[in-house]
Amino acid sequence: MRHFTKNFTQQEPLDEAAIAAAVEVMQSGRLHRYNTVPGDPGDVALLEREFAEYMDLPYCLACTSGGYALHIALRSVGLLPGEPVLCNAYTLSPVPGAIHNAGGRVVLVDIDDDSRIDLNDLDAAASESGARILMLSHMRGHIADMDAILKICDQHDILLIEDCAHTMGARWKGRLSGSFGQVACFSTQTYKHINSGEGGFLVTRDELTMRRAIVHSGSYMLYDKHLAAPGPDTYGAERLSTPNYSGRMDNLRAAILRPQLRSLDTNVARWLERYQAVANGLTKTPDIKTIERPAHEQFVGSSIQFRVPEFSNQQIVGLVQACAERGVPLKWFGAPEPSAYTSRYDSWHYLGEPRQLPNTARVLSTLCDMRIPLTFNVEDCSLIAELIVEAVQSVKHTASIG
Ligand SMILES: *Cc1c(COP(=O)(O)O)cnc(C)c1O
Repeated sequence: MRHFTKNFTQQEPLDEAAIAAAVEVMQSGRLHRYNTVPGDPGDVALLEREFAEYMDLPYCLACTSGGYALHIALRSVGLLPGEPVLCNAYTLSPVPGAIHNAGGRVVLVDIDDDSRIDLNDLDAAASESGARILMLSHMRGHIADMDAILKICDQHDILLIEDCAHTMGARWKGRLSGSFGQVACFSTQTYKHINSGEGGFLVTRDELTMRRAIVHSGSYMLYDKHLAAPGPDTYGAERLSTPNYSGRMDNLRAAILRPQLRSLDTNVARWLERYQAVANGLTKTPDIKTIERPAHEQFVGSSIQFRVPEFSNQQIVGLVQACAERGVPLKWFGAPEPSAYTSRYDSWHYLGEPRQLPNTARVLSTLCDMRIPLTFNVEDCSLIAELIVEAVQSVKHTASIG
């Protein structure tokens, strides 16, 4: 049996520029973002300005994680205790966790066959719950019809927060993901698109949201040290009424992120080549359905999802096993028990009784997921697809003789 031997969780090493920048910060001893000297605003402030420029938005806050950014985003837009927050049911656990952390009540919304938020159910859930906030997770980089989302938000007077953990560098109809809502949050955790181990961004064009986010992050009234923020003399109302939820980014992380941000668009193109090699290979069997990617969705192919719609639970378990034997670790998002980063919405018991989500349960029951690290080349990706196709065929064969 052919076997793939590379590691699916191995990211690329940091380049020389990032390493040199990190060494410089360490030599300076000034790792805290506000520990600056005249003439040098520090890497965090510079990174914030550079990411804001990349996003073409005025404001950016760098913080400790993507989940932290989601949490303070909700607080900064004025979420009230117990208030409902809409959220697509297919996402990762930090999203409902952030809503819970901010004191909100999670209202899950169903998904469609392509794993994106179901627009009819969003409309229904908005009416039922009266929610003022939608936290839309562009899960695994799949971007919903943003024209329709904005229209629904407008009709229900809903404020949009985008979770862009998987869409940093992605565009929808030419517009960057993360520039549609009032706030967007990004992660710079190792498995996302730029890597500082842990880290996150909050971006917005709303002044009040930004002032609150900065004070929440633990700014100790050092607003003048921010370069992508409202002016330091505008914090009058927020400075004493906004709690400090300490979650700043440090200069060491920012130093290694700045060069990576400059390579982001190049890497988006590299991911696309690899994604397409896998996706093309998977078309060799009609049993596999990859998720439709509309032409106006410029996605980042850092992972791939596909369904084997005719497979039973048992066959999916067999497929995960057959792929593992070939060195290809698949994640099954529909597994009844949470496994590694996959957990199904009904395993988030702290949410209470979820709404009826018939499509999410059905779609996730045959949805498989695989990471595509940039340490793989295009040939690796073609081979992986062949191995998956082989595994699907072996499971079908077993079923027909068993
Ligand atoms: C990783 C991730 C987050 C949170 O990012 P962290 O930096 O790990 O806190 C949020 N949403 C999704 C969909 C993610 O995958």
